[in-house]
Amino acid sequence: MKINIEQGSIQASAADTIIVNLFDDVTIPGGATGAIDAALAGAVSELIANGDISGKAGEVGVIYPRGAISAKRVLVVGLGKRDGFDVEGVRKAAAIAIKRARDLNAKYVATIVHGAGVAGLPTAAAAQATAEASLLALYQFDADKQQKESPKTIETLTIVEFDAAKLAEIETGVKVATAVASGATLARDLVNMPPNVATPTKLAETARSIANDHNLKLIVGGRSWASRRKMGAFLAVAKGAGEKPKFIVLEHNGKREDLETIVLVGKGVTFDTGGISIKPSANMGLMKSDMGGAAAVLGAMKTVALLDLPLRVIGITPATENMPDAEAYRPADVIKASNGKTIEIISTDAEGRMILADALVYAEQYQPTAVIDLATLTGSCVIALGGGIAGGLFSTDDDLRDRLVSAGQTTQERLWPLPLWDDYKQALKSDVADMKNGGGRYGGVGTSAIFLKEFTNYTWAHLDIAGMAYGEKPSAYTPSGATGFGVRLLVEFLRQWE
Ligand code: ZN
Ligand code: ZN
Repeated sequence: MKINIEQGSIQASAADTIIVNLFDDVTIPGGATGAIDAALAGAVSELIANGDISGKAGEVGVIYPRGAISAKRVLVVGLGKRDGFDVEGVRKAAAIAIKRARDLNAKYVATIVHGAGVAGLPTAAAAQATAEASLLALYQFDADKQQKESPKTIETLTIVEFDAAKLAEIETGVKVATAVASGATLARDLVNMPPNVATPTKLAETARSIANDHNLKLIVGGRSWASRRKMGAFLAVAKGAGEKPKFIVLEHNGKREDLETIVLVGKGVTFDTGGISIKPSANMGLMKSDMGGAAAVLGAMKTVALLDLPLRVIGITPATENMPDAEAYRPADVIKASNGKTIEIISTDAEGRMILADALVYAEQYQPTAVIDLATLTGSCVIALGGGIAGGLFSTDDDLRDRLVSAGQTTQERLWPLPLWDDYKQALKSDVADMKNGGGRYGGVGTSAIFLKEFTNYTWAHLDIAGMAYGEKPSAYTPSGATGFGVRLLVEFLRQWE
């Protein structure tokens, strides 16, 4: 779907479908909705008076102008209560309206920017939310089927604004929205792909096309590259894998050491069987989403490049399968990571922290201002916070933590802080190595974070996004399946960085 911006009156639009809005309990609509009401001889007010539309959040009233204006239909989407209305309210309204328009076979849709009128939200943010949610809501994974469903598609969405003074800000918002949606769509695609398609090689190819399109530097390391760098922890996990592991690094403004450096690290286990500590077979297929962190980093790098953010941003994604095999690493093995620390393997299913260990050590050479890793790491994080509710956040720095929480609040890709206490180290004490890779049944999210901290030497945050990358339940602008979680959060965090 293409997005245009037009100055003018919405009722004069040449689109086949027009979207306007209404707050809960408004009896006489104003602004653009008022203009439509006047053009339709009071049709909107009449529906309100009759109780057919009430402005409740999630509601869409459909009006057929029958020649009174050029559009075939007008959708009036409810915004809910004006009190406390925010950008998430904008996203939900935009998403619900555009999905209804699609279902009604609309091809050319015109909308106003929700929330920029009486609600008083900043124009750029409201325009971004309107456009971003419209794009994200219409996402469909292009499944490999002979019998293609012929999905209804909208060709263009035109954002119509009467006030010429607002156009520049709308343009800014739409530009950000398009870039963000493009990154989030990439992340969703990678997670939705079957694991025999979204292999480490596929992730490397994806990184290569991002690098080629946007002139970023790319490094793709294989087994011998990693072994020269003594990445014993990454290689241990990859040992049992038939698919070739890939250690992928994308650099945006890589040479600009004068800029602040943020390193993003994403866990890229393209399929996690658990290895020799094999998982139960029920729902094992969901483990194709164990590269949700890597997908978020690749998606974020694409958006960072599209927006050409004035930061030095490095994206690192260690990618491998975790398979049981004659060659696979085993419980009781002692493995040496690239910083020389040794790890006693308790469970080969705690492989995410192994590959992240070497990636976090690798990040240090960039002398980063901050490093943020994202990983579908522990079931215990999902038990603590709930699936689809919030990611767990651990940070060595309060300011970094607060910035991430705030970006999560703005984007509604929420994070909630968990403690990074040294006490968790006790559980990792080993008789045969510097640490174990698992700390037993209790506090699993804390012990995984304190394990990772052993491989960091800088300002750092760890986001446990298990339960966030993939969901069975759809919401307004997120269909079921891959969510793309992390892209919008990271981009908002980076855009707010000063
Ligand atoms: Zn695992
Ligand atoms: Zn895993």
